[in-house]
Amino acid sequence: MKKKLKITFVAVICIYGVTVAGVNITDLKVGFDYDDTLIFSTPAFRAGAVSGQEPYSEEYWRVVNQSFNLEKVKLVPMTTALIYKALGFDVVVITARQGYGGEELQEHWKWLAKEFHFERNKSEILKRARFVAFFGDSDSDIEEAIEAGVRPIRVKRSKKSDYQGKYHPGQYKECILPFSD
Ligand SMILES: [Mg+2]
Repeated sequence: MKKKLKITFVAVICIYGVTVAGVNITDLKVGFDYDDTLIFSTPAFRAGAVSGQEPYSEEYWRVVNQSFNLEKVKLVPMTTALIYKALGFDVVVITARQGYGGEELQEHWKWLAKEFHFERNKSEILKRARFVAFFGDSDSDIEEAIEAGVRPIRVKRSKKSDYQGKYHPGQYKECILPFSD
């Protein structure tokens, strides 16, 4: 019995090692949108809205990007990202936010994300490297993944989010991550 257990243990370690080595050699990445995908960020956007700054101005984005202490992690999408990371994939975050004052936010997520991009045209980034999937809540996330030839996976948006536009899960026959709202 003990021997069997030992063999199983060794086999698991080997499979894990081979998977990690394989992934590292081929340098595979997995992409995640930020707002309403990895993070419930409505509180940060509310902070921007009540700041008195012109909406979507440089100063507005500074407030939003620096309010990450108000944001909440979404459990299922974050766990999914961590599993990919443990398997050796590079986690890449791509947000359509403007990057003003976003250095601290990038720094805050350094432990998880090898890259953190402020980029409106997400497909540009997805085309640049080998991505196995892109997770996002908005229709545009799914469209941009398809455009880049990357498998899209829909993350459900929280009903508590202030943003309810561009949201038709399953419209592109994409996979939907269960319990991800
Ligand atoms: Mg989003």
